[in-house]
Amino acid sequence: MAEETWDKPVPDATDRCDSCRSQAYIIARAYGTLFRWCAHHWRAYEEKLLPNVTELHDYTFLLDEAAERWGQE
Ligand SMILES: [Zn+2]
Repeated sequence: MAEETWDKPVPDATDRCDSCRSQAYIIARAYGTLFRWCAHHWRAYEEKLLPNVTELHDYTFLLDEAAERWGQE
């Protein structure tokens, strides 16, 4: 089976956190699998997962931009 590849410029509404189904902002490959996480769950798992991550796309800057625009997180 072919590995899933990540080729989007940014995550869209179909990219949901693997843990809570929120909008995903972190796309990371670990153990050969592509995972999606919201900022909250990425922070929760980052320390444990990072040594096994071979590919990392961090879009949390989008979250910061949205927070600025809406004046909330
Ligand atoms: Zn989550």
